[in-house]
Amino acid sequence: MSKILAFGEARDGELRNVSFETIAAARQIDQDAQVVAVVLADQNTTALAEEMIHYGADRALVVEHTDLKEYTSDAYTQAAMTVINEEDPDGIVMGHTSSGKDLSPRIASKLDNGLVSDVTAIEGSLEDAKFIRPIYSGKAFEKKALNDGVTFVTIRPNNIAPLEKDESRSGEVSSLDVDIKDLRTTIQEVIRKASEGVDLSEANIIVAGGRGVKSEEGFEPLYELADELGAAVGASRGACDAGYCDYSLQIGQTGKVVTPDLYIAVGISGAIQHLAGMSNSKVIVAINKDPEANIFNVADYGIVGDLFDVIPKLTEEIKGL
Ligand code: FAD
Repeated sequence: MSKILAFGEARDGELRNVSFETIAAARQIDQDAQVVAVVLADQNTTALAEEMIHYGADRALVVEHTDLKEYTSDAYTQAAMTVINEEDPDGIVMGHTSSGKDLSPRIASKLDNGLVSDVTAIEGSLEDAKFIRPIYSGKAFEKKALNDGVTFVTIRPNNIAPLEKDESRSGEVSSLDVDIKDLRTTIQEVIRKASEGVDLSEANIIVAGGRGVKSEEGFEPLYELADELGAAVGASRGACDAGYCDYSLQIGQTGKVVTPDLYIAVGISGAIQHLAGMSNSKVIVAINKDPEANIFNVADYGIVGDLFDVIPKLTEEIKGL
């Protein structure tokens, strides 16, 4: 029986959704594999590990250490390598998140192993598994295989559906001691922006504004719509560059890559660099006053009109539902 490690990702004491998606991906790689959830965190690891088991892992391995409070390359690499050396897995799945993007190549290099990153779908199983990933800013997809060593992949959040949660599911949770040392960086302080609702990378619905929103205040109607929909607010780089919103909202080639169920692009022209971050969304709605705007070429539904008329009407309609 093969063994696949599914790495969870904890933030502020809670698991991010991608953690559960790594378990589903591990099952897709090999239905019969022993899926071992891995939780690296500074606290509460047993509860998090049990949650991973509820989402389909067979057992869980945790490393709890104060140096794992915030992600740092050195501490997490040491913790992850200790787990991998202990378990000697056939497969490893991590989230293609900002920390996963940093950690996975370090691990691959230490293992002298290949890595397929940013996987959005899996075909076949273990020996002949093929991993599908977008290339050329999402214009095409390639299918990759790992011919040797550990089957090591990172998965793009929101693409591989998690398995159904079963709270009656149980499994062994074991803990591993790690001697984390020689840290070249430590986090002195984390300054978080005031929470603006739903996490953009994990949101099912995103309302994104572009330069057409025209000002910081122009984003207000978008926030109101997002509140009604339980959505996160995102932005084009045009809007960020113009100072209408923070760069943490930027979606695109040099921003976040998102794949929500519903993406509402408001006053965004649809430059290729923006499409790179959102064109794989399941349903795209574009609102733009220019009927020739490129965003309509990728949209499933388009509304040609002034966003300042359309968005309040949409919000009212949704309030009335
Ligand atoms: P614009 O192109 O100015 O479009 C504004 C749109 O709003 C227009 O289509 C207009 O018709 C519409 N509009 C105006 N007023 C209204 C109204 N009242 N009602 C309805 N519609 C209205 N861009 C990104 O988004 N993300 C990236 O990660 C990114 N990375 C980049 C990396 C590189 C190396 C480079 C060179 C560029 C990158 N860009 C990125 C920038 C990108 O090329 C575009 O400049 C940017 O996406 C344009 O933003 P925009 O669509 O908001 O603005």
